[in-house]
Parts: sequence; C-alpha cells; structure tokens
Amino acid sequence: MHASFLPETRRVLREHGLRPMKRLGQNFLIDPPVRDLIIKVAALKPEDQVVEIGAGTGILTEALASCVRSLWAVEIDPRLFAILKKRIGEREGVTLLQEDALHLDFPSFLGQGAGGGRAKVIANLPYSMATAILLKLLPLHNLFSFLLVMVQQEVAERLLAPPGKKAYGSLTVLCRYHADVSLVAKIPREAFYPRPEVSSALIRLDLLPSPRLETPDPAFFFQVVRAAFAQRRKTLRNALLNALGEERPILEQALTTAGIDPTRRGETLNLEEFGQLSNALHDLRKRMVIEG
Ligand code: SAH
Repeated sequence: MHASFLPETRRVLREHGLRPMKRLGQNFLIDPPVRDLIIKVAALKPEDQVVEIGAGTGILTEALASCVRSLWAVEIDPRLFAILKKRIGEREGVTLLQEDALHLDFPSFLGQGAGGGRAKVIANLPYSMATAILLKLLPLHNLFSFLLVMVQQEVAERLLAPPGKKAYGSLTVLCRYHADVSLVAKIPREAFYPRPEVSSALIRLDLLPSPRLETPDPAFFFQVVRAAFAQRRKTLRNALLNALGEERPILEQALTTAGIDPTRRGETLNLEEFGQLSNALHDLRKRMVIEG
C-alpha cells in the first residue's frame, strides 16, 4: 500500500517538466484511502462501462482500468495526456481521449445505449468546470446511470441544499429534476496536490430514467426556475414579472392555480411547486394563443 501518491505525482510532473495549472483545475488526488473509497462506492462490475473526465496523471484511471473492461478517460491537457498514454495507453479496453469534456459528443462515442446498460461517470472534476460539466451530463440519462464526482464543497452545497437555504438555486432544482443526489463523503484539502483553497466532497448523482417532473415544455420550465432565482430578494410575483415579462393578471392566475402564495420568494419553492407553477403558466399562455 502507498502511504501517499504525492512522491509519485511530484516525480512524474517533474520528469515531464510540468507545473499544475490552476486554470485547468489541476489538483491531483494523492490520498490512497480516498481513491479506495471512490472505487468502493462505484461498486463496479467487469462489464460496466466507465467514463473518467479529467484523468490527470492517471491515479484514478489506473484503478478504474483494473475494475472494468471498457474505460474512456478524457483529458484536455496534452502534457498530461502524454503521461497518461505512457502509463495506461496500451491497456486493452482503455480509450484515452485528448479532448475538452465540454465539447465532447458523448452519444457518438458511447453509442445510444448500445452494448446494453448505461455507462458510469467517475471523476475528480476540474473545479473550475465542474458545474458546466454537470449541466452537460445531467440530461444524458440515456447514456449514464450515475455520476460519482469530486467537487468543491461549495458546489456540493448547491447540489444538496434544501429550499430556502442560501445555496439553493437553479442548479439544485435542475439536479433534482434529473437525479437523486447524495453526499458520499466530505474530503479534506490535504487529499490533493497542490492543496486547493477549499475542501471537497464526493457526490453521487443517480440519473433518473426520465425526469422527475412531467413538463410539456422543459425549456420553459427552466426559464421559470431561472427567473425565480434571478432576483432572490424579491417576491416571486415581482421576480417573475420582471424576468419573464409576463402580464400581471396571467401571473396572478397561474400562481393561484398552482396554489402558491405570490409573496413567497422563489428560493422557497421546491421542484414540484416550480413544476405546478410553470405548468399553470404554460396552460394559460396556450389558452391565450387559442382564444386570442
Ligand atoms: N483525476 C486526476 C486529476 C484531477 S484534476 C486525479 O484525481 O488526480 C482535474 C483534471 O481535469 C486535470 O488533469 C485537468 O487537466 C483536467 N481538465 C480540466 N478541464 C478539462 C476539460 N474541460 N476536459 C477534460 N479534462 C479537463
């Protein structure tokens, strides 16, 4: 057993003349028990398909490769990619992709549910891009069964916050719309090199086979959600009047139909209430078009 991956990580970076780049969220995992925890929680079977985003020097990649027969490891940094290639490039079943995960067309390389079963995303995400990557992955429930991700404490709080809390926002609602979210463990800063300024959390997002809510128009639903949070200090009525440009009587009627007190703040609504509200608004708009 390694006491720490730090000496090895330092050595390999030094050998390649590399310094970790903050812009790319390069904080490498150096704590073996944390890697063991990730592998344990992932409960992988050999036939599982795994996607790792931000493979870095391959600490986690190597462990994943020994658990499953199909692994895709994505890394944006060509310098780290060279290290990865040397370390695990030759393994059967491992595909290394030197790509920006934000631009990657996941359906095309994973195939639409081909091979039976959905893939799993397991990643120590680059902090700077964690939310953007999650927003991209969450709707892909045809492709992925769960996302087991390391994120900054602050992002974890946004994912887990109950209504009314400061961290509760459109990201929280979007997550609950697509997934069951749970905290696996808080991870201290010391588990990474270089040591980040904030602690981290390992989060598991189990993607629902279909969204938790039935909405005739998901884009409109999210527009309502974002509008409600755009001016957090305002009442829901005023926030929506300003951000949606809705006419007052229609808004009042939708709130009444949805059974929501217009003087509440948007940040107190749970997912289901947002659903009722946006559905009521959607119906009224449709009726207006037909009648008008
Ligand atoms: N998994 C490794 C590295 C984590 S650090 C470990 O646990 O040690 C995050 C990694 O994500 C870095 O290697 C960084 O270069 C990479 N990365 C940053 N932005 C990326 C992006 N848009 N697409 C793919 N990889 C990215």
